[in-house]
Amino acid sequence: MNFSVTELFLIVTAYLLFLFGIAYATEREIIPRRISQHPITHMLSLGTYASAWTFYGAFEMLENSGFLFLSSYLGASAAFIMAPTLLIPIFNITNRYKLSSLADLFAFRFRSGLVGTITTLLLLLATLPLLSIQIQAVTDSLHILNDDFASSQIAAAFCILIALFAILFGTRHPSMRARNRGLVMAMATSALIKLIALISISVYVLFSVLGGPTETLQWLNTNPQILASLTGDNNDDSWHTLLLAFFAATLVMPHMFHLAFTENRSTESLYKASWGMPLYLLLLAVCVPVIVLAGYKLEIHKESSFLLLYLSQLLHSEWLIITVFIGGLTAASGIIIVASISLASMLQNHLILPLIKTPENVKFYAWLLWLRRILISLVVLCSYIFYMTFGAHQQIHLLGLSAFVAFLQFLPGIIATLFWLGANRIGFIAGLILGMSSWIITTFYPVMLQQGVLLSDTNIDSLNWQSSAIISLLLNIGAFILISRLTRTYPEETRAGEACLINTMDSPSDIQRPSFETADIIRLLTPKLGETAARREFQHAITQLGLDIDQIRPLDLLRLRNALEQNLSALIGPIEAATILESLAKQPVDRSFKARDIHLLETHLETYQAKLSGLAAELDELRRFHRRTLEKLPLGACTVTPSQHILFWNHEIAKLTGLNSYDVADLSLSDLPEPWCTLLPDFINQDDNHLTDTQVIINGDNYWLTLHKSQLSENPDSSIIILVEDETEHHLLTDKLRHSERLASIGRFAAGVAHEIGNPITGIACLAQNLSLETDQPEVLQAGDQIMEQTRRINRIVQSLVRFAHTGQTITDIQCESINLKQCIEEAIQLVSLDIHARQQQFICELNSDVRVEGDPQLLLQVFVNILNNACDASLPEGAIVISCEQAEQRVFLSITDEGTGIDKAIQDKLFEPFFTTKEPGKGTGLGLSLVYNILTEHYGSIEIISPANNKQNKGTQVIITLPGSRPEVKNDFS
Ligand code: ADP
Ligand code: MG
Repeated sequence: MNFSVTELFLIVTAYLLFLFGIAYATEREIIPRRISQHPITHMLSLGTYASAWTFYGAFEMLENSGFLFLSSYLGASAAFIMAPTLLIPIFNITNRYKLSSLADLFAFRFRSGLVGTITTLLLLLATLPLLSIQIQAVTDSLHILNDDFASSQIAAAFCILIALFAILFGTRHPSMRARNRGLVMAMATSALIKLIALISISVYVLFSVLGGPTETLQWLNTNPQILASLTGDNNDDSWHTLLLAFFAATLVMPHMFHLAFTENRSTESLYKASWGMPLYLLLLAVCVPVIVLAGYKLEIHKESSFLLLYLSQLLHSEWLIITVFIGGLTAASGIIIVASISLASMLQNHLILPLIKTPENVKFYAWLLWLRRILISLVVLCSYIFYMTFGAHQQIHLLGLSAFVAFLQFLPGIIATLFWLGANRIGFIAGLILGMSSWIITTFYPVMLQQGVLLSDTNIDSLNWQSSAIISLLLNIGAFILISRLTRTYPEETRAGEACLINTMDSPSDIQRPSFETADIIRLLTPKLGETAARREFQHAITQLGLDIDQIRPLDLLRLRNALEQNLSALIGPIEAATILESLAKQPVDRSFKARDIHLLETHLETYQAKLSGLAAELDELRRFHRRTLEKLPLGACTVTPSQHILFWNHEIAKLTGLNSYDVADLSLSDLPEPWCTLLPDFINQDDNHLTDTQVIINGDNYWLTLHKSQLSENPDSSIIILVEDETEHHLLTDKLRHSERLASIGRFAAGVAHEIGNPITGIACLAQNLSLETDQPEVLQAGDQIMEQTRRINRIVQSLVRFAHTGQTITDIQCESINLKQCIEEAIQLVSLDIHARQQQFICELNSDVRVEGDPQLLLQVFVNILNNACDASLPEGAIVISCEQAEQRVFLSITDEGTGIDKAIQDKLFEPFFTTKEPGKGTGLGLSLVYNILTEHYGSIEIISPANNKQNKGTQVIITLPGSRPEVKNDFS
């Protein structure tokens, strides 16, 4: 049964249009995101693995080598089953560092552009045979359906359509890490189509050709030679090699890498793939023997690769033929599309971008996209040329096999990336080149060379490919290990290795305190990306990190740089990205900082705490203990680098400065507010390691601090620890002590003076007393009385001076009695009025004569005299001084209000301090109020001074004295 050229062309076009439609509907979200982004969809897209090799080649392999055909399914299944240990770690690395291909991964791991370039070229070489057999499969199948087809034209048309699809749906975004949802959806659909096609065909032939399962078994029993021919030629060596080759290919083939890692956003789909893909492959594999048996039954002896087609032709079923054809078409096209996209990105990152300069005045993103589109077309073109040159004459499985052996050579690199820190770039390159050369010599070249011969000789053993595969691999591994051991591993390789290694945390060791600014970043990006794209990338990273452009702190700059490097890595590959931003990392930093950022290290340790176990966990516990000790130290402690950047800042110093450790994390000492920005740097610069009792003003208050410093190690470039002791309280205490010592000496002095003055005063008093005996003149007598009164007053003052000198000691000779307050006040007024100035004052006494208080009359008189004196001193001549009183609950509130100058707010809390006075020397002693205070305290009373008393005129002072009221005399009713 033949199809016309037009019919076939329509079928191919219709199918590809269907695929375009699916991809387009996904991009446009006509197919909802919940389906297109479902992990199952992504998992199914991995079914692209089943290429024409599985759809056509498997049949030939089953006929030639028996159950060896299963190796392709089993090898891949093994890789998927090991997803948690292999695929997911690789995914995590590629996702974290935004790597988009195997070449990116190796270039990142070995920090070398050369590694990327070599990987790219060798992968291209290994993939071309694989792609060419896809073209061949489609071309040949079309040829079988219609002899009129000229192979080269079909192949060309097919290639153009495929390239178009790859360009349309594989280069949606300039960033290679942006998901091409349409592509993934189309691949998932085509995987489903393959499965459905194969299952429906095998079910159909099982019943229509073989007559059902029971009849098949009977038929096999009667013809044992069939089963024997299927299982007989089992070559044991081939098994291992094939399994290993397919296992490796599943990880490293460009299209598999692209779908599993680049187009993937979560580990979930990979976890699902660990059971889903083996199941998928198993279902595919089960169909193969059934169809091959049907072929035996129908005695088809033609080229077994296309058994499916011949079978359906024989069965004269149009829909069967179309199903088979479309199945083959979808299998072949999927791999070319994805592989060309992936290879294009590798070529871009590792071949084109390092070589050419971005032309000026282009839109960078558009330029990049066009570059990639051209590269995709080139890859497809190369496959076409390869097919035309060699592939057209080859048998499908031989070419495929040679490709799979080549993929095996990348396995050591993958394993080393995940598990071996000691691997270095020279070892990797040497191993890969040796392995690949051995592959070219022993497998690739003979396959190419013997194209004519091999056509008749279909036995794959004739090439002895498995031993050559193993030898190439061993050479590769041997060279890799040996040379890695012998040559120098660069520190940046080790760091990248640590970043890739399973179970390790990101080492922040390469992170240095940045000394660049945001403007530097844009300046660096511009030459490669152009001004617009540079600004856009910058802005994108800023938004991504949620930073405020006006408040970028040094640590944020560092995060910004890293985010930019990752974003650029997705755009132009890890090596190019690192090269552009290189100068930012290599800014000079102070050496003592050891390029290690304590804050980052600690943040990392905090994040990883839960993941630490064993000794590491214990060490971390110890670290926390020491850190807490330092943080809770009841002394201010901080550590600074020699360049005076703050490394550590504990709670006490945070309390003292009012800046918490987070605030100062990235600051240098000179960035701190006054007085710290001068105090601490000056202290660090001074020779003496101690600075005692230095006075500083913090927020307007006086503080006395003692500072100590010491270097963390002998090295003069090492960090410095500073201790800050707050001595303020101690200082005030010593001040007080000094003051009371002074008072004590005044006390002793006063006691002496009192003693000396006592005698002449007694003399004066005697003389005054004698006056009354010597004269009758009333004026003289009155003067005598007044002299007596004044000498008594002098006595009292001297007494009070002595008493005051003993401040703090209780006034022992209080003689409490009930006093008439009015009389007491009046006496005080009289005494005050002896002064000429005071005599001019208007004393207004508004007291009831029945108010009585409990106290010593002499002492209270002293209180009132002092307060009235103060009032007079403050008042203008003829100012009024009002004395009034209230009584409540056994207490008497006496108020003395003047209209004088009032008291400044600033000195109001110092009034009761001894020797505090605002008066001229000789006029005031400053002892008055402090004496009043002492006497009142002894009387269980209190004093309050309110000034200004007259708020409106802002003048006057009111003194309120509280004293215990005198209890009414208790009358005993029973007496
Ligand atoms: P002195 O009278 O010897 O100066 P005091 O202890 O009696 O010492 O008073 C302390 C200070 O309080 C005075 O110097 C004065 O400035 C202020 N002062 C006290 N009473 C008044 C008042 N009624 N009006 C204004 N200032 C006053
Ligand atoms: Mg006074």
